[in-house]
Amino acid sequence: MLSVEEARDKILALVSVLNPEDVPLLEAMGQVLAEDALATFDIPQWDNSAMDGYALRHADIRGARADNTVMLKVIGQVSAGQVSKLQVQPGTAIRIMTGAPIPIGADTVVPFEETDESERTNASNAVNHIGIQAESPKGGSVRPSGEDARVGEKVLAEGSVLRSSELGVLASLGYSNARVIRRPVVAIVSTGDELVAPGVKLEDGKIYDSNSYTIASLVKRYGGVPQIIGIASDNLDSMNDMLNQSLIADLLITSAGVSKGDYDIVKDVLAERGEIAFWSVRMRPAKPLAFGMLRGHKDRSIPHLGLPGNPVSAMVAFEELGRPALLKMLGYSNLEKPTVKAVLEDSIVNFDSRRVYARAIVTRHGDTYFARTTGPQGSNILTSMAKANGLAICPENLPGVGPGETVEVQMLDWDQGGVF
Ligand code: AMP
Ligand code: MG
Repeated sequence: MLSVEEARDKILALVSVLNPEDVPLLEAMGQVLAEDALATFDIPQWDNSAMDGYALRHADIRGARADNTVMLKVIGQVSAGQVSKLQVQPGTAIRIMTGAPIPIGADTVVPFEETDESERTNASNAVNHIGIQAESPKGGSVRPSGEDARVGEKVLAEGSVLRSSELGVLASLGYSNARVIRRPVVAIVSTGDELVAPGVKLEDGKIYDSNSYTIASLVKRYGGVPQIIGIASDNLDSMNDMLNQSLIADLLITSAGVSKGDYDIVKDVLAERGEIAFWSVRMRPAKPLAFGMLRGHKDRSIPHLGLPGNPVSAMVAFEELGRPALLKMLGYSNLEKPTVKAVLEDSIVNFDSRRVYARAIVTRHGDTYFARTTGPQGSNILTSMAKANGLAICPENLPGVGPGETVEVQMLDWDQGGVF
């Protein structure tokens, strides 16, 4: 039986980082930068004011205090978006707004709060003279050009995951597109004669297909483009038909038909159309798993992950083995899920030396995280997954963990964006 790590390594060895593409900035959220981003100009481009106040010469305000007001002549005003044509001469000042370029001749900005402006009537209209009531340091409230980025500087390195802040940096440099590793298209096929799509009346013996929805939404959440191909019945024609429709994808994910008993059709079809290995992975849930390469058009072969059918098993197997594959294709280097150490409030039993991923509810009290299981852990009980915000891990070498013991918990909802 393979360990989770062995199974993951085998899968990762067979999937590759996809090629780059240019996409509009907003669409690139969560994608990985395929080249270094350089500053094509200084940001800011010119010295500018950090405050609303008066641009002046520091030499003119030496010794200014509340009880020693220095009077300057106000020769004009400049707001953000304008460039003043005036020059600050000795004894003069220009009223300036935050973000406006510092006028020639000025080296310091004194904020309104350190002037007598509010005491002057009609302050918002023209102020002819201004009393400076504090000696701001030279260069005070001036944001120097190039403070944020210098022309030619590498502001973002190839391989960076684009979050809102990175998208903002690119926008501030004038980029409207980003060159990123493209998103994998993931074909999703559910298999089983018993399955029908939601929205249709259930006949006796049938169940609704939930795996297509859990897996497609996880694919989307982690940055892939899911394509729900449909439900394959347990027969050759139907299976072949679904596989033919999946050949456009970068990754095929099927569910069910990989456990002992009824997987023969899936196994035969996939073996005939590529190479497939059926594995037992030392984990609970989700022991039975398949992985292989499906022959596509021309020389292409498409990685194929065959998840177990039980709804919780399918989700957990996707988190542990599908997600790293997807993130690798997207160019991520951190493939780990975020974890916390938590004090277990109840018990997890492990009777056959597998790694147990118990659905758990993690809470925080002060500095300590606590975890309790969601109750019955049957791999068919999908509502237990809906109650959980983490997967508490009992290592394979322990017979169980009990109340008060510390466990590692993979947080299910902490990584939208993938970097923390
Ligand atoms: P199998 O791996 O085909 O033996 O399926 C294991 C269990 O998972 C059976 O109870 C199936 O009915 C159930 N199952 C398989 N596929 C799905 C699905 N797409 N949605 C919900 N349950 C499923
Ligand atoms: Mg089945």
